[in-house]
Amino acid sequence: MQTFTIKPYAMPDSAPALREKVRALVAEHEHRFEPARRANCWVTPDPEFSCALGQAGLLGMGWSKEYGGHEMSALERYVVLEELLAAAAPVGAHWIADRQTAPLLLRYGTEEQRRRWVPGIAAGEVYACIGLSEPGAGSDLASVRSNARRDGDRWVLNGQKVWTTGAHISHIMIGLFRSEAGSERQAGLSQFLIPLDTPGVTVKPIIDLTGSHDFNEVWFDDVRLPADALVGTEGEGWKQATAELSLERSGPERYLTSQILLTEFVRRLEGGADAGQLRLVGRLVSELSALRQMSMAVAARLAGGEDPALEAVMVKDLGNSFEQAIPQAIAQAIELDLSADDALELLVAYSMQVAPSFSLRGGTREIVRGIVARGLGLR
Ligand SMILES: Cc1cc2nc3c(=O)[nH]c(=O)nc-3n(C[C@H](O)[C@H](O)[C@H](O)COP(=O)(O)OP(=O)(O)OC[C@H]3O[C@@H](n4cnc5c(N)ncnc54)[C@H](O)[C@@H]3O)c2cc1C
Repeated sequence: MQTFTIKPYAMPDSAPALREKVRALVAEHEHRFEPARRANCWVTPDPEFSCALGQAGLLGMGWSKEYGGHEMSALERYVVLEELLAAAAPVGAHWIADRQTAPLLLRYGTEEQRRRWVPGIAAGEVYACIGLSEPGAGSDLASVRSNARRDGDRWVLNGQKVWTTGAHISHIMIGLFRSEAGSERQAGLSQFLIPLDTPGVTVKPIIDLTGSHDFNEVWFDDVRLPADALVGTEGEGWKQATAELSLERSGPERYLTSQILLTEFVRRLEGGADAGQLRLVGRLVSELSALRQMSMAVAARLAGGEDPALEAVMVKDLGNSFEQAIPQAIAQAIELDLSADDALELLVAYSMQVAPSFSLRGGTREIVRGIVARGLGLR
């Protein structure tokens, strides 16, 4: 039977200095942050802040200097991410590009693709989106129908993607397309790098129930791309895209989305707290601490070239449950006055509406638990 390997890791010696650097940058820009949206900060774009992070050398931290990176360790990057998330800074513009697009290009891309796109990502100036889901292919991703066919030395793309976070502010998409006509399921799929200003690409907004425009439909109508738009190996798209998912599923954003609520809750209790409120803080902080160790362990293994996919989905499932439970638990622990212009009340009201989506994005709870069950040999 498969077992889980979660080893504790100590923070690097450089952690205190990195934390100070992030805190100073946040303090400089904080006046611009939209109060309620801080409860979903890694989806909230602020290009000016992304560029400031790039200039401060806080993006592309683990990549080679040749591509604009800073050759730092995975745990140093982790320190920066958790500081940004704990401060609820709007990191949505560059988040996907820094987390998975550039690492994917560095692993599978051509030298030309790396040189063209990765330095801009490290500078906080180039943003990317993920083109996996389609109307008929969400949990069952192998049902992807959007297709790419060769036409001379070009690729021609047709089809539709949906729920594409940030497509409206992104420069490029890494999209999964069926590149072998007649192929089925996981076979015959390939990944393409698509500049979103290519003729034939149409991005249409989807407004969520909070009134925010975070995700989109993206349509492809005879989109003509050069042969070198292919990322990695033709027909290996499934393998490449699923390897990317471990990067997507295990990071601190999978348990820290509601951290700002906990911070504001503790701030409010400084004026006096009852036993139930103190118990709640104790319980949430201890769960947070365990999740942090698990997530750091996955980050360290990913950096070591392993693919701890099972541990990554466990972190995602437990982390999502944690960040979904916080708004409800805090709402029950305080006297709510939603008409008040108070930081905590605004965050609770906003979070109650977005929290259900936490266990949908990046793979639903049911799918993630199915992967854990399979890993344990239970199905
Ligand atoms: C906030 C947010 C951001 C997103 N951003 C992106 C993005 O940037 N790019 C992208 O490509 N996609 C994105 N998605 C899409 C996301 O990956 C899909 O919503 C998700 O994979 C589920 O697919 P679906 O919506 O088609 O639901 P379905 O797959 O139709 O699932 C509907 C329900 O059935 C359940 N279900 C389905 N199959 C099974 C099964 N075999 N066993 C048990 N239960 C099952 C699911 O768990 C779910 O509860 C985003 C979604 C959200 C909510």
